Amino acid sequence: MQFEDLDLIEPILNALEDQKYTEPTPIQEQAIPLVLNRSDVLGCAQTGTGKTAAFAIPIIQHLYHNGQHNPRDKKIKALVITPTRELAIQIGDSFKTYSKYTQLKNTVIFGGVKQGTQVNALRNGVDVLVATPGRLLDLMEQGYVRLNNIEYFVLDEADRMLDMGFINDIRKIIHKLPHQRQSLFFSATMPAKIVELSRKILHNPKKVEV
Ligand code: AMP
Repeated sequence: MQFEDLDLIEPILNALEDQKYTEPTPIQEQAIPLVLNRSDVLGCAQTGTGKTAAFAIPIIQHLYHNGQHNPRDKKIKALVITPTRELAIQIGDSFKTYSKYTQLKNTVIFGGVKQGTQVNALRNGVDVLVATPGRLLDLMEQGYVRLNNIEYFVLDEADRMLDMGFINDIRKIIHKLPHQRQSLFFSATMPAKIVELSRKILHNPKKVEV
């Protein structure tokens, strides 16, 4: 299997070629067609399996197609929640890499730094927001982030979120999301508490495992 067999748009294929990626990893091969077909996905996968591209690529493709009808409107359309600043930065970089030949904009917000630069980026308008839970809630409460236009929601490293005590923050965030959306949920392990959380977020999910 090659990326060319996955029905991806030319701007994404060109970006992948720049990275010298020719073959999808197993999680990408399974998840990309499901996300392109608008299924919710429950993914059991560790970091290092290529799971970031497994969700970033099909989301970029959806946003690119939607953008043909609805050019830059400064609304946040995709939200990725991840537990740590390092992961948030990596995910933001991946979105930049794979969307470099599109007009899509993304930004990353996380705690432990002053909020000014992050607020300015949000004011300029982004299509994709990658965030850690605490800073996201903080900026939501201050009115800098509105989630009412989210079409794609990703919860990354769900088991680590729970271990780090983010469960209540996650609940507050999902409460603000539109019901009509596509959701993707990734966790390295699937203990009962994670399965329970996934049921609150996902609708008829397809399961992928690597
Ligand atoms: P992740 O599991 O998303 O953190 O990705 C692990 C690493 O694999 C990252 O450095 C990616 O850039 C790289 N990667 C992702 N997809 C591919 C691919 N299809 N071929 C080669 N490397 C990849």
